[in-house]
Amino acid sequence: MRSQLSLLEYLIGQRGPRIHIRQFINWDKTIVIDNLFYVKPATIWEVARVIKAASMTGIHVRATGAGHTRSPLYPDEGHIMMDVRALKRHDGPDMELHRPNQVRPYYTVTAITGVYEYDLNDFLVKNGLSMLSQPLNVNETVGGMLALSTHGSTWNAPTWSGYVVEMRLMDARGRLRRFTIESHTELMKALMCNLGMMGIMYDITIQVNGTLIAKVQNQFIPLEDLFYNQTNLRETVTSHFLTEISWYPFNSVTPEEEEVFLHNNTVLDSWRVGRDLVWLRTIVLADSVPDGYTIKGPGFLPTGGSLSGGNITGILRGKATLAIAKELPSVSYHYLVDAFPTLNIPIHGSETSAAFVLNIDNQFSRPFRAFQFMTEKVERQIKTMGSSPLNAFLPRFLQNMDCLLCFGNNGIQQDDDSGRSMVIDFLAPPTQFGFYDTAADFVHKFRQEKIRPHWAKRHTDIPGIVDIIKETYGDNINKFTKLKFDSGIDRCGIFMNKYLMEIFGRPQNYFKWC
Ligand SMILES: Cc1cc2nc3c(=O)[nH]c(=O)nc-3n(C[C@H](O)[C@H](O)[C@H](O)COP(=O)(O)OP(=O)(O)OC[C@H]3O[C@@H](n4cnc5c(N)ncnc54)[C@H](O)[C@@H]3O)c2cc1C
Repeated sequence: MRSQLSLLEYLIGQRGPRIHIRQFINWDKTIVIDNLFYVKPATIWEVARVIKAASMTGIHVRATGAGHTRSPLYPDEGHIMMDVRALKRHDGPDMELHRPNQVRPYYTVTAITGVYEYDLNDFLVKNGLSMLSQPLNVNETVGGMLALSTHGSTWNAPTWSGYVVEMRLMDARGRLRRFTIESHTELMKALMCNLGMMGIMYDITIQVNGTLIAKVQNQFIPLEDLFYNQTNLRETVTSHFLTEISWYPFNSVTPEEEEVFLHNNTVLDSWRVGRDLVWLRTIVLADSVPDGYTIKGPGFLPTGGSLSGGNITGILRGKATLAIAKELPSVSYHYLVDAFPTLNIPIHGSETSAAFVLNIDNQFSRPFRAFQFMTEKVERQIKTMGSSPLNAFLPRFLQNMDCLLCFGNNGIQQDDDSGRSMVIDFLAPPTQFGFYDTAADFVHKFRQEKIRPHWAKRHTDIPGIVDIIKETYGDNINKFTKLKFDSGIDRCGIFMNKYLMEIFGRPQNYFKWC
């Protein structure tokens, strides 16, 4: 690598950017890349010089934002990681508001892709604007959220990918290209969730709404009333603007059951999974703030860093975690973008997440079956082994899109489809007993129902997952590859890595060099 470094430095030239060899560790420490070339360009010309040097040497280059992704979507060992967070726009501010016009009769915001969600939210609130869905975590970049289709849990709103109306990116030849939803309607279906395969995204323009006021409500209800009652489950999810369900297993353990467990690691038969409480966080939109309330900023879960909260390890953690969630006010009012986030996370976390996506049918029979399958599995492990395969079970809901690689995808249909998808997120430290086995059982149980992973979450530990992805996305994979090729953005595969080549194939030999 040292000799390649000299070559890259020579090709990039003295104007930079500087390039180093370094190690990379992602947020939850599940991805460690021992040696890669790291570069952090500040201008689009620096990006161009790196891409041209990469093309000439055949070294691949992939962008990175905050590094929160848990799947192998980073560069491979020995390739170039381009950290986009220092990039500045050359022809405008990093975030720019556009008023409605004849072509786009709605407000839009252009943001450079390295902008963090917390800065974007601040900008939106100051300008009286909203997005209709966002993730829990405000420390992610706009580029990372778009590339992997980061979701929230709004019933009638898409993932981040669904807001994009325009994008500028630098292609494999170092050309800055501009694509819009109006002129490149088909290609946009590939660009809006691109897994980092469509060049280095420079800035993106998203559609936004005017100010909305959100009433956030936190309730704690018995699991059996929601997970074992299909009608109530459907009514709850479809009647709110946003519904977030969080279950921390074994949280209803009584003092007597806890004492027995602490003495001999036995879970008494008196504990039943249906008795656990589920944290139900809902948002409805409000016309105004009632007397006695004021508009609050973002309200973060006081977890002290970990996702499911608390310092307790083992299955007694569920109870401690629930107690933390109960510290949140039962009702509060926010501007909508401030109502979404609940996590203000540390630089590295100790829990990982595996998340899988299923279509929601109008009767909610699939979510109901999925919840039952998981609660029974968790209950069985708790009762027989005194441990839980997961610390948290987090179902989320979203609207599907016309988007080739989005997991919320209009092209992936099931009977009586509601046009929505459900993401179920399992959280646990990566070494927790039963974590991957349970996730694998879940995937294989729903394989015939077009299950697919959330791209950003751990999924490559599931045996056969590449085949499952190919089965589920079917022809969308070929369509994506063809659009990529025809657009000329990357014919030589310079933005690919090994994992993506397993799914999308290698470029033909003729196009080995850009
Ligand atoms: C604590 C925590 C909570 C989370 N909560 C949610 C949630 O609620 N909902 C959800 O859906 N996800 C959630 N995620 C996952 C997260 O949304 C994704 O991993 C997202 O991609 C992270 O953004 P990032 O800036 O870290 O991107 P990175 O992880 O750095 O990059 C992600 C991908 O984007 C590509 N990319 C980034 N920038 C560019 C660019 N400029 N050009 C081309 N490609 C680019 C990269 O190549 C990579 O493939 C969570 C993750 C964590 C750690």
